[in-house]
Amino acid sequence: VNNLELKRLFRWRKAAMDIVEIDGSFLWLSGAIDAAERLLPTFRGPDGDHEGMVFLMGKVTGSTTLITTVIAPAAEHSWGRVMCDENAIAAVVAEGRERGLALVGQLHAHGGDSTVHSDGDDHLITMPFEGMLSLIAPHYGRVGLRPLSGLGVHQHCDGRWVLCDPASVAANLRELPEGIDLR
Ligand SMILES: [Zn+2]
Repeated sequence: VNNLELKRLFRWRKAAMDIVEIDGSFLWLSGAIDAAERLLPTFRGPDGDHEGMVFLMGKVTGSTTLITTVIAPAAEHSWGRVMCDENAIAAVVAEGRERGLALVGQLHAHGGDSTVHSDGDDHLITMPFEGMLSLIAPHYGRVGLRPLSGLGVHQHCDGRWVLCDPASVAANLRELPEGIDLR
């Protein structure tokens, strides 16, 4: 990341945030990326587009996490924020458990082109755990989520949120197609 890009990414933040390499490798099924792209634009109100949110669910095997499914929670949302309470998160976790899936991260959308946690985002994520991902999609997620390296990818490390270096994200957060044709 060059300095100009850094300045752009952090222009909405007051608090500093470290940039580190993403820890672990993440494979996100194509169908679950498509599902997130369908769900985010459904967060709307009479006043138009709202910030949306989905939880990333999957299987963790060693240092590799397979993201198979996204779940849209019951959430409070507006043009400038999206929040869900502990009951909504408990419902997501229960739904995942029933299907044998763990909660591995969350994705929320911002209205503008900022893909870095706002100062508030650092504190609004309920019960973050070590290695949890927090992804931010720009433009309310309405321009698609691909390439995944265009998302703001944060990870909870040593009790704080860090921004993952985009090059490490490009190498370690990858789409996994469900059908491959070698003909
Ligand atoms: Zn945010």
